[in-house]
Amino acid sequence: MKPDSAPQALLDAIDADAMLREVQDWAAINTGTANIAGLDTMAGILADAFSALPGEVELVEPATVTAISGEGREFEKPHGRHMVLRVRPEAERRFVLTGHMDTVFPADHPFQEVSWLDDETINGPGTADMKGGLNVILHALKTFETIEGAERVGYDVMINSDEETGSLASRGLIEELARGKYAALTYEPSALPDGTLAHARGGTGNYSITIHGRSAHAGRNPQDGRNAIVAASDLVLRIAALAGDDITVNPAKIEGGSANNVVPDLAVLRFNIRPKSTEAMNRFDGELDRALASIKAEHEVGIHRHGGVTRPPKPVDAKAQRLFDLVKSCGAELGQTIGWQPTGGVCDGNNIAATGVPVVDTMGVRGGAIHSPDEFMIVPSLRERAALSARVLARLSTGDHL
Ligand SMILES: [Zn+2]
Repeated sequence: MKPDSAPQALLDAIDADAMLREVQDWAAINTGTANIAGLDTMAGILADAFSALPGEVELVEPATVTAISGEGREFEKPHGRHMVLRVRPEAERRFVLTGHMDTVFPADHPFQEVSWLDDETINGPGTADMKGGLNVILHALKTFETIEGAERVGYDVMINSDEETGSLASRGLIEELARGKYAALTYEPSALPDGTLAHARGGTGNYSITIHGRSAHAGRNPQDGRNAIVAASDLVLRIAALAGDDITVNPAKIEGGSANNVVPDLAVLRFNIRPKSTEAMNRFDGELDRALASIKAEHEVGIHRHGGVTRPPKPVDAKAQRLFDLVKSCGAELGQTIGWQPTGGVCDGNNIAATGVPVVDTMGVRGGAIHSPDEFMIVPSLRERAALSARVLARLSTGDHL
């Protein structure tokens, strides 16, 4: 007989010991975003693990990503492959579940091992962010597949290798998989160790502006030069003036320049913006273009614009709010109290929301101190969160509407 989707039955069906073992093994593999070999090992392990589910597993090549060097040259940045599982793609109602296999800890970082902090807490790289979350996806789906009604819906799982550096090599893939889905769940750790979810998020964008002037002797013929540092400084003041209540602008670095007796012909300006709304994001984009055009004309320099908003703001619309309400209601059925709060952080949930698909993006484990050597994961939350997701999917498959 098939186990039913009753909350307690879901909890009982989950193998918490297996979950913990897998998370310990996965966290022991270094998957810093630049560690292509480590990511490749991890992608293979994930592909094997997710093969236990119905559907096809595929490892997808990263999209080409370029950056600008301090000398103003564009170069390619290597990335790892992404894992995609497609289950019942013909189903009418389909979901997408996403996570990332990379961590912020490079291969030569001292924080590489998993240890116990107390009876129910482990400390280790990527335990909360988010190998624990990846494991929650796996076991939630294994449990979901055992219940009546699962066969009526389909889903895709996407695990990228570059979330921590902005998902530049997986952004297109995320958007492609999100489009047309009924709902999305992303497995970042909870916003607080008590399980509180992240609600609305602002967006973020990173820019590199290369300015090419003309060099000349600083004493002999400075009038023939076009000073790239002066032009970059003018630009800094103009973009800083675009900051407001709904957007922050942070000019972060100017590279380039030359010797004291030379009019510098090169400057690279790097800056970050954090728009709180789509309107602020679009307004900045237009203003930046206008500022670049006048700098170009007034300083007689060449300008190359690289980068832009990689994470659009994530407002919570009515449909997304209904998904939050459903998660809360499923939590209550399982004896879990679930709340939410806005956050300044960004994640792939921003990009999913931009496609118009409702998303809750902190469905992963309870934990904290992420991006630091104190990162911890609360072990009982593995089973708890897997049951929560299985219950949410069960209800979305058997009648609940958003
Ligand atoms: Zn993360």
